[in-house]
Amino acid sequence: MRHVLVTGGAGFIGSHFVKRIIQAEDVARVSVLDALTYAGHIENLGTACLSDKVRFVHGDVRDAAVVDALMADGINAVVHFAAESHVDRSYGAAGGFLSTNVLGTQVLVDAAHRHGVGKFVHVSTDEVYGPLTQGTASEEAALRPTVPYAVSKAAGDLVALGAHRTLGLPVCVTRSSNNYGPYQYPEKIIPLFVTRLLRGLPVTLHDRGQHVRNWLHVADNCAGIEAVLRDGRPGEVYNLGGGTDLSSKELTGYLLNLCGAAWDAVAYIPDRPANDLRYSIDWTKARDQLGYRPQHSLVDGLAETTEWYRRNPDRWAPLTTAALCTVLSSTCRLPAPLETPRGH
Ligand code: NAD
Repeated sequence: MRHVLVTGGAGFIGSHFVKRIIQAEDVARVSVLDALTYAGHIENLGTACLSDKVRFVHGDVRDAAVVDALMADGINAVVHFAAESHVDRSYGAAGGFLSTNVLGTQVLVDAAHRHGVGKFVHVSTDEVYGPLTQGTASEEAALRPTVPYAVSKAAGDLVALGAHRTLGLPVCVTRSSNNYGPYQYPEKIIPLFVTRLLRGLPVTLHDRGQHVRNWLHVADNCAGIEAVLRDGRPGEVYNLGGGTDLSSKELTGYLLNLCGAAWDAVAYIPDRPANDLRYSIDWTKARDQLGYRPQHSLVDGLAETTEWYRRNPDRWAPLTTAALCTVLSSTCRLPAPLETPRGH
């Protein structure tokens, strides 16, 4: 595994993964391919950018010429994070999500096959299983995505797994629950609420705040993805869960406490269509086959994350106003001036 290509490495999870994988002794080189969309920030890579091991390429995963040239440069393994990742933005804008998350994946697997890449990890989400009223979804569960983001991710999973079946490309798929941690773009619920509450601004919850998500520290997801990269069996899917289940109201309670705010900062607004009530995955396969075990406690992880946003206002304050205006305009059912988050 000498030369690893990480797509979307300037985003939230991808940047954590790059910082992790460059420390591996058997990795001599890491190429990062990222289009630097609104969600991608080269600053997320920090000093990793200065490492002799790292090369940053500003490009689009849908650009077959760029991807082919990269793969031709001795790539042994690919970890594919690049995606349109925010559920709210996918409502009424499925085209862009399908384009990057499905066609982008197709371009990558085709090039990886042409150049004999030894391992291709496609990073996906528990949202592809759709909502569950009870029980947990194993890797064998049917895909029942509801929102356009999840539909595009499920289709990307099928493209990647299809490349294994039809071309023999050694593909693994990871499906993790909701990630949290430093460097997350402040449009998803945790960084959105923290950055608003730290400024004394109100936040909104849908309905009664009853929607349940499993919260996994980003470092635990990255550890699981590395385990899949190294030891995952080609053609297999691995669920990466084991975080903490919380309703959005329970999560809000933690965040209010950490930010020194009270419940009068919270407004309740009507629910949105297809706001999945609950996701839950069975991650025993990754535990038993790969030794995957999340290490971070929710209490410590949320405190660390809140502290990071408190200490780094220069990283998120310029982003919040302009970028969240875009979210608001694409979710015009919302009462201004409050943003409305979803679980992921
Ligand atoms: P993110 O939005 O923070 O980062 C996405 C990155 O991809 C950005 O750097 C962006 O510039 C880049 N990108 C977008 N379109 C591109 C394109 N066409 N070409 C090249 N680069 C492009 O996302 P994230 O939260 O870090 O998620 C990473 C991956 O993990 C995604 O595939 C997402 O579906 C998956 N995932 C995320 C979560 C979560 O809780 N955040 C949970 C499960 C799975």
